Amino acid sequence: MPAAEGGDSRDLPQQAPLWYADLHIHSRYSRATSPLCTLKHLAAAAQRKGIALLGTGDFTHPGWMATIRDTLEPAEPGLFRLAGRKADGEAPGVPNPMPVRFMLTVEIATIHSQGGRVRRVHHVVCVPDLDTAEALNRELGEIGNLNADGRPMLGLSCRNLLEIVLECGARRGVRTVLFPAHIWTPWYAALGSKSGFDSLQACYGDLVEHIFCAETGLSSDPAMNRRLSSLDRFRMLSFSDAHSPEVVGREATRFSCTMNYDTLFRAVQGVEQGFEGTVELFPEHGKYYLDGHRKCDVCWQPVETRKHEGRCPQCGKPVTVGVLNRIEALADRRQPAKIPLDAPFRALIPLRTVVAQMLGMKTTGGKRVQARCRQILSTLGPELPLLDTLPIEEISRRGEPALAEMIGRMRRGQVARSGGYDGLFGTVRIDEE
Ligand SMILES: [Zn+2]
Ligand SMILES: [Zn+2]
Repeated sequence: MPAAEGGDSRDLPQQAPLWYADLHIHSRYSRATSPLCTLKHLAAAAQRKGIALLGTGDFTHPGWMATIRDTLEPAEPGLFRLAGRKADGEAPGVPNPMPVRFMLTVEIATIHSQGGRVRRVHHVVCVPDLDTAEALNRELGEIGNLNADGRPMLGLSCRNLLEIVLECGARRGVRTVLFPAHIWTPWYAALGSKSGFDSLQACYGDLVEHIFCAETGLSSDPAMNRRLSSLDRFRMLSFSDAHSPEVVGREATRFSCTMNYDTLFRAVQGVEQGFEGTVELFPEHGKYYLDGHRKCDVCWQPVETRKHEGRCPQCGKPVTVGVLNRIEALADRRQPAKIPLDAPFRALIPLRTVVAQMLGMKTTGGKRVQARCRQILSTLGPELPLLDTLPIEEISRRGEPALAEMIGRMRRGQVARSGGYDGLFGTVRIDEE
């Protein structure tokens, strides 16, 4: 692999006003992922979505790390691109695809006992170069088996993982970053109802000052998080946690700063301009928005869960308490506060869901839906800018008046929602009236 030469931005657009990053994804080395999660397929998917910066995911896995070394080369400081740029034109049918950059990222699961309870928490770790990744891998490899899963599980406290990550960066004179993943997921999150904590302070202890951002996860949006004053100083980020290329970018974070590793994190921290908010699924769409038991067909709003004292009437066991309920339990505000740190976010419905509804189809995976999506992308460009920012009149003028109407309604929040629960995705449809 060629050495980094202090950055190279030859094929970035001169004044890219807004770009999208998705830093939490997985490779084919993580459990329950698609075999298509290769760097080339992920890059092509990113181009279709309009994601300019993608996490590699899984850099602690020796097999994936070998692939990264073979396939990527240094680009802007702290970032990488496909070597030889072969795949820059590999998103068939999308006009003028942006080149895709990669950042070395991994999701790490910790499990430990604290305060008499088993705590399972997921974290995302980012590093700026391969040698730092290898140094961190050597240390973490002493603690657990990095070969077992692209998202390794380590018997460590959250605080101690953070310490290892920070010290590894400090020793090498580079910035390493850790932030809590999908913070509200019941089982695997810093603030989750089943095995999390009541605050990030309790989770990361004396090192919490080194945490400056958190991933909201699919079932919450930034506003919901602003009901907790304890989260006020954290920037709210959104990423996809994709396990297959199709869902890359289903949530993402917008930036307008120069694309390099340190600048991005300075923008996230708020010491520099360039953080532009997030694009989100509607939180009801997420798998853990409401409470309930999927197997028992019990789905409750928080008020019903309280009425039943949290017990499922079918099986008698405690229901899975979802994100809305958990946020209400920990909130110290009735309404979300407006925080100066925040930038606007927008809730979106994936294009294939919009198109399936437009065609009157029940499922999003059929050939007709796929063909129509391809046709739309070929005239209107990548998915996220289309759903998020392309002027409605322009969508209409370029031959898609029906789609323009639907996207307009989606942007105004004219949607019917039924909340997900206990691992079952919710549904969100654009109102037809
Ligand atoms: Zn996770
Ligand atoms: Zn039950």
